[in-house]
Amino acid sequence: MARSLTLLGATGSIGASTLDLVRRNPDDWRVEALTANCSAGELAALAREFGAKIAVVGDEACLPELRDALAGSGIEAAGGVEALCEAASRAVDMTVAAIVGTAGLAPTMKAVERGGTIALANKEALVSAGDVMTAAVAQHGATLLPTDSEHNAIFQCLAGNEIEDVARITLTASGGPLRTWPIERIATATPAEAIAHPNWSMGAKISVDSATMMNKGLEFIEAHHLFPVGLQRLRIVVHPQSVIHSMVEYRDRSTLAQLGPSDMRVPIASCLAYPARMETPLEPLDLASIGQLTFEAPDETRFPATRLAREAIQQGGGAPATLNAANEVAVAAFLDGRVAFGQITQIVEETLATLSAPSPGSMNDVLALDADARAMAENLVENRFV
Ligand code: NDP
Repeated sequence: MARSLTLLGATGSIGASTLDLVRRNPDDWRVEALTANCSAGELAALAREFGAKIAVVGDEACLPELRDALAGSGIEAAGGVEALCEAASRAVDMTVAAIVGTAGLAPTMKAVERGGTIALANKEALVSAGDVMTAAVAQHGATLLPTDSEHNAIFQCLAGNEIEDVARITLTASGGPLRTWPIERIATATPAEAIAHPNWSMGAKISVDSATMMNKGLEFIEAHHLFPVGLQRLRIVVHPQSVIHSMVEYRDRSTLAQLGPSDMRVPIASCLAYPARMETPLEPLDLASIGQLTFEAPDETRFPATRLAREAIQQGGGAPATLNAANEVAVAAFLDGRVAFGQITQIVEETLATLSAPSPGSMNDVLALDADARAMAENLVENRFV
């Protein structure tokens, strides 16, 4: 029988990969809601193609365009954050949370509060809301299926084992497009250079995060919440080929790793079919042609973001939410040409050092912290770094 699906962030990179799998298995899925921020024409075309019941734009100013594009289709159109939350609250078998940034937090929490099954790509939501979200998952009996490739790999490597037997979890990192660059050149990398990822095709924000290594920092925090083995058992290793997506070492010194092509359809398929498996259109992994798998320690002098993330999670309270918000502001300013690449992590570090952020007890506390950190980071961008 077809299962119902809501896709938050349908017009993005994860959205496209998810819909590619749904398109190949039309009898298995019935699409309830598709959402975007303002890509109204694209969203309407997807809603028509997949026969969605409702299409929602987060930016209310884009609703008239969505309405026009859906005219005569019988598909409901809605706009604004409340409408995103209403769509996310609808009863479905699977919610794919693939909005980028903290903008995804409120709708993802609605799916959690409904006790739903959520394929979570939106790492920023978990980084910001950490304990608040995991407590809500437990309270409402929701299921989080990690969709980030590393966390999905860890999830697969943990299957059938006890978390108490884990000696170490290793997150692999490609090192990004600037991995081999000298520090002086990294400081002035352009947006085009920063988003030219060697292995993965992704949205602009996460591509810049990969170049600064903040992506791995956010993933470190995400792993801390998803897999509670303690910070001392989490580590990062650079693996430029992106073939091993992460590993779990057990106390008997067995290490289980998950390998696969660098294509998000693999972890998304693992979530969509969970606990079963489904076909993907990808070629089998050809290890002989890949030839070598190599590993390096992260260089936190050239790429300080993983240190900042580790310090934020050690500091606790609202520090991870502050780190995430400051990073979102700094990355947006970099993509707009307002700050240099090397200033992204400086803005994050300075925001973290300046703002004392108490532990958030609710989603509203998280959103308030997020707003404070954004204001401070924006102020730094305007007054210190431009
Ligand atoms: P994209 O930038 O490609 O897409 C983002 C999606 O979110 C779009 O549908 C966009 O709509 C929507 N969106 C953006 N801002 C808002 C907002 N304020 N309100 C509502 N919707 C909004 O991002 P990705 O697909 O690359 O990434 C999505 C998430 O998945 C991120 O959290 C990322 O870290 C994570 N992730 C991504 C991976 C990848 O390979 N891409 C891998 C692992 C994790 P619109 O088109 O209208 O702007």
